[in-house]
Amino acid sequence: MSDKLDLHNIRIILVNTSHPGNIGATARAMKNMGLRHLYLVDPKEFPSAVATGRAVSAVDILESAVVTATLEEAIVDCGLVIGASARSRRVPWPLLSPPQCAEKVADDCRNNKVALVFGREDAGLTNEELQLCHYHVNIPADEEYSSLNLAAAVMVISYEVRMALLRRAGEPLARTDSSHDVAGAQGQAEDVVVAGLDWDVPRATGQQLESFYAHLEQVMIDLNFHDPENPRLLMMRMRRLFGRIRPDQMEISILRGLMSHIDMLNERATRNITVEQQRKERKLANLLAAKALDEGSADA
Ligand code: SAH
Repeated sequence: MSDKLDLHNIRIILVNTSHPGNIGATARAMKNMGLRHLYLVDPKEFPSAVATGRAVSAVDILESAVVTATLEEAIVDCGLVIGASARSRRVPWPLLSPPQCAEKVADDCRNNKVALVFGREDAGLTNEELQLCHYHVNIPADEEYSSLNLAAAVMVISYEVRMALLRRAGEPLARTDSSHDVAGAQGQAEDVVVAGLDWDVPRATGQQLESFYAHLEQVMIDLNFHDPENPRLLMMRMRRLFGRIRPDQMEISILRGLMSHIDMLNERATRNITVEQQRKERKLANLLAAKALDEGSADA
C-alpha cells in the first residue's frame, strides 16, 4: 500500500464477468483508490490480453487476483458482504447509499474481511447471490439509464470507501475498553480481535453463516415447521433477518448450541428414549469417534 490508509481487509468481487476489458478497468480503478484484492468468480475470459491492456499500471492487481468457482467461496472468510445492485428486487433488502456503504465498510474493515460484490454486465447478481449479502448498495443514477458500466460502478463505490477512510485518518481510536489491546499484546491469534471499534467479538464469517443456515433449515424441517417441497420465501427471510443483525461468532455459536439441544429433544421424542439413555449413547458415540480419530492418526 503506497499510502497510510488500511484497506487490506477489503476485497472487490466480480461475478461471472463477460468482458475482460471490464476486469482490467476494475483493476485500474481499484489501484487508483488503494484497493488491492480482486476476486473473480467464474470469469468468462481470464487471464486475457484485453484485461492486461485496460489495467495499464494495475497489472499487479490482475496477477494476484483470486479466481473462484462460486460467490460462496469468495466470501467464505468475510464478516461483511455488500452487493452492488442496479435494480430493486421483489423482496426488499437493507439498502445503503454509497456513502452509507462506505461508512459500514470503514467501520468493519479494521477487524473483519469485507467484500464488495458486483454482478454480470447483462444480468447483474442473481437473487441467490444477493441473498448472500448483508446489505445491498445502489448508486442513485438517473432513472432513465441507471445501470453503470461495471468498472465505473466499482470506481464509485471504491471512491466512497476511500473518502470514508480518509475522513477518519488520523483520528484517535475510539476504544472504550483497553482489554482489546491487551489481547493483542499477549500475542493471541489474530482472529481474536474485535469486530468493530465498539464490539468485543468478530462477526460471523460467510462460512459460519452458511453452516448456521443449513443447520437452521434442517431443524425447521425436522420440526415440520418448514416444508422443503413448498419452501416459499422462508429461508430467504431468515437470511435477511440474520443479515440485518449481522451476528458475531459467539452469538452464532450460542444459536448453534441451542439448535443442537432442539435436535436432541426431537430425537428423544421421535425415538421415545430418556435423557439418560441419550446421554449414554452420545458418550459412547463420542468415545468411538475419538478412538477412530486416534487410530486414524496412528496409521498416518
Ligand atoms: N443490467 C444489469 C446491470 C449490470 S451492470 C442489471 O439490470 O442488473 C453490472 C454491475 O455493476 C451490477 O451487477 C452492479 O453490481 C453494478 N452496478 C451498475 N449500476 C449500478 C448502480 N446504479 N448501483 C449499484 N450497482 C450498479
